[in-house]
Amino acid sequence: SLSDLAPLHNPPAVATIRLCRELLPDLPQVAVFDTAFHATLPARAREYALPRDVVDRFGIRRYGFHGTSHAHVATAVAAYMKVPAPQLRIVSCHLGNGASVAAIEYGRSIETSMGMTPMEGLVMGTRCGDVDPGILLHLLHSGKFDATALDQLLNTRAGLSGVTGTNDMRQIEKRAAQGDESCRLALTLYAHRIRKYIGAYAAVMGGVDAIAFTGGVGENSALVRHRCLQRLEFLRALLDEEANRTAKLDAAVTVAGISAPHSQVRLLVVRADEETAIAKEAASCLAGTSRRHAATIGEAAIDLSILARCARLSQATIERLFGQGHRLQQAGEPHTGHQVARDTIALIGPGGRIEDVPVLEALGAHDQIEISRADEFVLGVDAPVRISGDVRNSPGITLEGPQGRMSLSEGLVSARRHLRMSPPDAARLDVRDGGRVQVTISHNGRHAIFDDVTVLVAPLARPTLHLEPDEASAAGIGRGELEALMHQGSVSAAIRRAA
Ligand code: AMP
Repeated sequence: SLSDLAPLHNPPAVATIRLCRELLPDLPQVAVFDTAFHATLPARAREYALPRDVVDRFGIRRYGFHGTSHAHVATAVAAYMKVPAPQLRIVSCHLGNGASVAAIEYGRSIETSMGMTPMEGLVMGTRCGDVDPGILLHLLHSGKFDATALDQLLNTRAGLSGVTGTNDMRQIEKRAAQGDESCRLALTLYAHRIRKYIGAYAAVMGGVDAIAFTGGVGENSALVRHRCLQRLEFLRALLDEEANRTAKLDAAVTVAGISAPHSQVRLLVVRADEETAIAKEAASCLAGTSRRHAATIGEAAIDLSILARCARLSQATIERLFGQGHRLQQAGEPHTGHQVARDTIALIGPGGRIEDVPVLEALGAHDQIEISRADEFVLGVDAPVRISGDVRNSPGITLEGPQGRMSLSEGLVSARRHLRMSPPDAARLDVRDGGRVQVTISHNGRHAIFDDVTVLVAPLARPTLHLEPDEASAAGIGRGELEALMHQGSVSAAIRRAA
């Protein structure tokens, strides 16, 4: 049923599975999808601006490809930099015969250049990448092309091959140096497109910590890397020309640094190793630890907490909003699982205001305003999804209190769903701080599943699942039901480990 989506790839893969089943009936088989890593693309990156009825009827959306390679790049970059992937913003450039770029923000793919099919994006060996769709209509209307001819044109006669007659970058580089104009054009088209995507993805992530190159061209062509990385000083990315020219990867050296010592962005060449990444995925799947085969690691009685929005403020901010020397007034009893003060503030965005935003009793070292997705549209702002407490690289917002108004330069986030628990509970469930789990809540004989819940370990009496009202209703729990569950004290939950 997926053949239509990737006619060149899926039918042969299914034929291979069938044949292996016949030849080796007892051998477990695992299918690793090149699209899986991009399952985290947010709607803004996943959707095309087409009528919803057409989208639904034809299954049109962006899937992204080369996911196995981009995931491997993220792992390799994190290991090389000795910084966990959830703390890095990486632009990964897979430049082989097929080519794509991915924006990997704090461990998740949030943008990638290939779309519903592997045709979108970069200039490739035989595929053109981004073109004005009007060109296709123009060719169809000309009567000289039908669907089959267009398919051939775009998949096999375009890209480097279409411009120069060859898809071999080594030959193109050589001929360009000898004066071949078509090869010169191809090289500049190729590198310009990549530079455009690097700049775009840095903007999408609000900055970049590492830019990595992999694939036949990415690993071997110092010239292409140079052309892609020139004049990126505005991103604080500086290439070390000597390191770039001499970078050489082999079985022992799988990552090479090519940035200048004072570059704030690490520039890296990473040996593509999709085979190892696939083997690891298969191993974790067979060991029952992958997301889709998650094994239950524990049952627990958990509290639920919903708070559409809240502010955690520093004492300095409190004094600017409420007056000098102001102390937050304790509310007495915990409200929706959070200890909130009696004091409230208003949030002001370009689209509107939200009054009566609760301020948490606990002071923060940094100001942090957590809002819900619905709030984003009331205020007219865009809050990145973050683990509570992580305001790096987030936008600001204007706050108003009874005694003053101030604009934060950062601190506005939308909280990633999380499960707080004490260190002993974490030890009992064998989960670590920052780990990801799936939580299934059972109520009234029904189950609500929350995928991809981040574990936060902090001294606390009981495990508490923090949800947004929108998320709860997306999981099929209505507002009233949720409140009933919250007042019930605790609900039983099954906790599974995610990949
Ligand atoms: P892949 O699909 O990852 O095997 O990459 C194939 C592409 O890498 C082809 O366009 C090759 O011409 C290119 N390639 C391989 N080695 C080099 C090299 N030393 N310099 C430039 N391009 C290369």
